[in-house]
Amino acid sequence: MPQAFDLVVIGAGPGGYVAAIRAAQLGFKTACIDNFKNAAGKPSLGGTCLNVGCIPSKALLESSENYERVQHKFAAHGITVKDASIDVPTMIARKQKIVDQFTGGISGLFRKNKVTSLHGTGAFKAAAAEGYIIEVTTDGKAEEIQAKHVIVATGSVPRALPMAPFDNELILDNAGALSLKQTPKRLGVIGAGVIGLEMGSVWRRLGAEVTVLEALPGFLQAADEAVAKEALKIFTKELGLAIRTGVTVQSIEKGKKSVTVAYAVDGKDERAEFDRLIVAVGRVPNTQGLNADAVGLKLDARGFIEVDGDCRTSLANVYAIGDVVRGPMLAHKAMEEAVAVAERLAGQAPHVNLDNVPWVIYTSPEIAWVGRTEQSLRDAGVKYRAGQFPFLANGRARALGEPAGFVKMLADADTDRILGVHIIGPFASELISEAVVAMEFGASSEDIARIVHAHPSLSEVMHEAALAVDKRTLHI
Ligand code: FAD
Ligand code: NAD
Repeated sequence: MPQAFDLVVIGAGPGGYVAAIRAAQLGFKTACIDNFKNAAGKPSLGGTCLNVGCIPSKALLESSENYERVQHKFAAHGITVKDASIDVPTMIARKQKIVDQFTGGISGLFRKNKVTSLHGTGAFKAAAAEGYIIEVTTDGKAEEIQAKHVIVATGSVPRALPMAPFDNELILDNAGALSLKQTPKRLGVIGAGVIGLEMGSVWRRLGAEVTVLEALPGFLQAADEAVAKEALKIFTKELGLAIRTGVTVQSIEKGKKSVTVAYAVDGKDERAEFDRLIVAVGRVPNTQGLNADAVGLKLDARGFIEVDGDCRTSLANVYAIGDVVRGPMLAHKAMEEAVAVAERLAGQAPHVNLDNVPWVIYTSPEIAWVGRTEQSLRDAGVKYRAGQFPFLANGRARALGEPAGFVKMLADADTDRILGVHIIGPFASELISEAVVAMEFGASSEDIARIVHAHPSLSEVMHEAALAVDKRTLHI
């Protein structure tokens, strides 16, 4: 008889490991299967986010920002540092240490919560009398387990361009971009999305000449137009990224030590040679190895597992969460779906509001938003009032030496309910939480305007943006 579990979770990224922990807390006998191996060939829990995504990218962003501060920002404080240099292998080793601490931490959390952790690829074998038979394959050896309920949390993988498969030597995906052994002199980035901008910023600050080639005619079109405009100005003029939009990549040729990209832009054909090329043109759902067909698990036209609003798939007792289903490909979205599904299995009535998922881009300055953009409100004919306030007029931002950017608040013209908040500026990733809470509670801009905000703090810019909606700012 195969070992039987109340719940088998396939994938141990932020979706899978959180689902397993919460289900175990709720009393389910739970197993979590994951097949990720790190560069050292060792199983490593935490999925894309912990191993080759959120956490390592933020570690490198911090290192590169420190290098930038030493070189260009400390002098204004009267601090002189001569001959500052960066040792890339040390930086990468620090990143890996942080990753290893966190991925090891997941094993500890599994032990604490009595989750059975299985290394290998999990695949549906067949439906069983009570649930499903899942096959777990490791290094060619297969074992079967039985699951009453299944949560699929197999995440996503980088989308490759057919003309440029990843080799992680010259043509890099996210894992390659996070593990370079030295700063390339000329770095090409295809895709001015979140990864392109974060990774482009890291290597630019460390000295690479960075060219970003974006297919869309505009820059950062998912963000509010005012934020995108400010970001483009800062990233090109201050950071020194060369950003080309409206680019059609025609060919990518690999040489021995470089990659040549031929592309058309503004009706002209151009070529550029790079020492390394990051391809960051989005991610695709990962259902490889899952054997979805064996049990008739339905995928949609784009390869995502089809789910309803509660993450139920086409199969009884099978749920899917995170990057492998519709919605933003973000770790916090995966984690919230995870908790909700586990609690639903336990008969509770949780909910996840995908309308109020915050987005953050960890560039410098950071970009964060929640809710509707001004252009989407305008296009939909919604009547709104907008309030905007710059960090330049905020004492804390000036003391930090981070005066760039602003907070912009959009509120319904009739009800004053907040419809969207957009930030470009220092610690935008932290500041956005106030807006998320406000919007979840259906707050008005007047509510934020009447809440006491600490002084001096960056949160005062949120306060002033709310006051600006009613044209009554105090400090400009
Ligand atoms: P994943 O994290 O992809 O985990 C899926 C796991 O399942 C993997 O370990 C995979 O190996 C395993 N698996 C797949 N198939 C099988 C199978 N058949 N059997 C067993 N195991 C299987 N999001 C943010 O919110 N903030 C950020 O700052 C951020 N930064 C990012 C930076 C980069 C460079 C990248 C690439 C992504 C970033 N993301 C960020 C996105 C975030 O990583 C994903 O949204 C998140 O990891 C999705 O979680 P998941 O659990 O759905 O899938
Ligand atoms: P993305 O969707 O953010 O950006 C991809 C960009 O590539 C888009 O601007 C797209 O127009 C462009 N593009 C597509 N095809 C192209 C082509 N042929 N030539 C030129 N440009 C092309 O995707 P990403 O940057 O690869 O990141 C994937 C996902 O990972 C993100 O959507 C996000 O969900 C997640 N992520 C999040 C964070 C964060 O939260 N801070 C950080 C990194 C990644």
